[in-house]
Amino acid sequence: MDDKDDSYCETPAPQDARSEGGPPYAACVQCQEPTEYPESTKGITLCPVCEWREAERTACSG
Ligand SMILES: [Zn+2]
Repeated sequence: MDDKDDSYCETPAPQDARSEGGPPYAACVQCQEPTEYPESTKGITLCPVCEWREAERTACSG
């Protein structure tokens, strides 16, 4: 019976791509905060906050 404890191998959690060292993200056209979209994204890029506010605005017209 092999009861030897082979040095416990801990698997490091995968790094979030959005943490430092990730690809460059386009800046929000409203507040200049980094968005979830890469810089290569065409058109208007909005950060989650502005995107949400924009959706609210168009949803509640009037
Ligand atoms: Zn924004």
